Amino acid sequence: MSKTKKFKTQSQKLLHLMTHSIYTQKEIFLRELISNASDAIDKRHFLSLTDTSIPATDYEIWLEPNNEKRTLTIRDNGIGFTEDELVDNLGTIAQSGSKAFQEKLEKEDINIIGQFGVGFYSAFMVAHKVEVRTKSPYSDTGYLWSSIGESSYQIDPIEKKEIGTEITLYLNEDDTDNEEDYSTFLDDYTLRRLVKKYSDYVRYPIKMKVVVKEDKKEKTEIQTLNQMTPIWKRSKSELKDEDLNEFYKHQFNDYEDPLLTIHTKVEGSLTYTALLFIPKKVPYDFYSEKYEKGLQLYSKSVFIQDKNKDLLPDYFKFVKGLVDSADISLNISREMLQQNQQVKRIASNIEKKIKSELEKLLENDRAKYVEFYDAYRLTLKYGVYDMYGMNKEKLQDLIMFKTSSSDDYITLKEYVERKPEAQKAIYYATGKNKAAIMNLPQMDLVKEKGYEVLFLTDEIDEFMIQILNTYEDTPFKSLQQGEADFIDEEKKESLKAQEKENKDVLKAMKNALKDKVKDVKLSARLSDSPVCLVSGEGLSLEMEKVLKQMPNAQDVKAERILEINPNHPLFKAINDRFEKDPSTIDRYASILYHQALLAEGLPIEDSTEFSKYLVDLMVDSNKN
Ligand code: ADP
Repeated sequence: MSKTKKFKTQSQKLLHLMTHSIYTQKEIFLRELISNASDAIDKRHFLSLTDTSIPATDYEIWLEPNNEKRTLTIRDNGIGFTEDELVDNLGTIAQSGSKAFQEKLEKEDINIIGQFGVGFYSAFMVAHKVEVRTKSPYSDTGYLWSSIGESSYQIDPIEKKEIGTEITLYLNEDDTDNEEDYSTFLDDYTLRRLVKKYSDYVRYPIKMKVVVKEDKKEKTEIQTLNQMTPIWKRSKSELKDEDLNEFYKHQFNDYEDPLLTIHTKVEGSLTYTALLFIPKKVPYDFYSEKYEKGLQLYSKSVFIQDKNKDLLPDYFKFVKGLVDSADISLNISREMLQQNQQVKRIASNIEKKIKSELEKLLENDRAKYVEFYDAYRLTLKYGVYDMYGMNKEKLQDLIMFKTSSSDDYITLKEYVERKPEAQKAIYYATGKNKAAIMNLPQMDLVKEKGYEVLFLTDEIDEFMIQILNTYEDTPFKSLQQGEADFIDEEKKESLKAQEKENKDVLKAMKNALKDKVKDVKLSARLSDSPVCLVSGEGLSLEMEKVLKQMPNAQDVKAERILEINPNHPLFKAINDRFEKDPSTIDRYASILYHQALLAEGLPIEDSTEFSKYLVDLMVDSNKN
């Protein structure tokens, strides 16, 4: 029984683009269909290893041009489609690659088609009608899917014995006005050239019957058009960057060259080849739950698994690529793979390799490393923090910060190397951005002393620093937490004297703020600012902010200490008022506290109280 169905809206849009494509590189349809055929054979082969109902066979892809009918057929003996799969896979854009492409298309122009894996629908760039004859080992009958690339397609049951898929393209008429010559897709020479260009490394033979002349007689001969050597098996010297870039873009659905390519062959007690890439742009779903890390796994060039998670640690989850190892048996089940010692050893080697390549990049090409770091720094930082800092030593030298001394990033190593001998700690301050941090009252004295301060502007930063605790024995020290440790003795002494002198007013303020702060003290770290808020050791004010934004926010609160600048005229003013009328201290204390909160970028805790006191004060000042 014949069924007519509508394409999903997204697919209709993409199809429309394909049928009306003015894009010149229409030839890429062949690459797409051959690559689908090769994937389908991979699937069948893999399933046949564990499922005896699926027979193994000699796997092949055939190109069958027919000049009379103006059709080109691409035939494979891969896994085929069931009826449901035809609907799911050809009636809708299900694949992430095509989806990403669609999103891109909406923003950019059509010229990116050639760089992107757009898949099956690209057939409609060259054909006005497409027929798919297919048989899956999971269904008793075969099916014919057909469409003229408009809003609907049809599915009919057909007789088909062999498992696999045959895609027939009814090529467009040549358009002499536009010099578009679709009939070339029927000639041997062009097909051979295109296979060489795009599909040479496909692992299964791509075959074609070719008529050759021998002693003036014509005879038909079967030719294999591809070399079948996977790109990663070719020698490095023979490979051009371009080849690797093209391979990456096609295999991993990107439209830009990778930022970094790592091609490594290891031989010895463990033998494998790895071809790894870091995408230039963060993949669109990278920070979503949907993103799956992993590397493709091959055994002797035969595909085993698409995203093997065990081959990549979470903190390098941005790496894409593949591993091919003869040490991994083809017949291994996925559960067994997880326990597999070889996989573990390869994973550990790959991790070291990625790390050392990144370190090399940091050393030899800073600009490129910065590009990488800007894209993926959160993943690295989370890696330092995760698992109670288990991997911090591995990752700490890949982390960089902007600082108060320059707009460039520096590493912790560079910070420690260039700090003055006498400086005992690595100073840092947390805030929204550079300007916010530079304006913090706590920066007053540090600026005076000329210390370099790391800017912590990502939410994860302070959590990471607390886990790091020290960098090669130099401790980290927050400017917004605990005691300032760079105050000289003389100043400390004079502060002590001042605290004694102002005992009563400090005590009164502390009392006024007893629900809000742990302590009120005179500060040695301020010069221009009247007050600042610091936190005790442990949880900082910034961390409090971050934790409160979390979905299941707990009621966390950092310990607050209000520090007052004894040399600021404001302190003298408060003192004078206090002597005349001690009851005014509540207002001053509250306003000072709230002002310090604001300077930290924290919200006013009690806005009614704050504005009432402020008004009182203004009225008062008018009285005197
Ligand atoms: P993609 O190749 O990016 O997955 P396509 O639109 O090219 O997207 O194909 C959609 C799906 O249809 C594929 O994921 C695959 O499941 C299936 N498919 C395509 N070609 C074949 C084929 N020759 N044999 C079996 N399944 C195929």
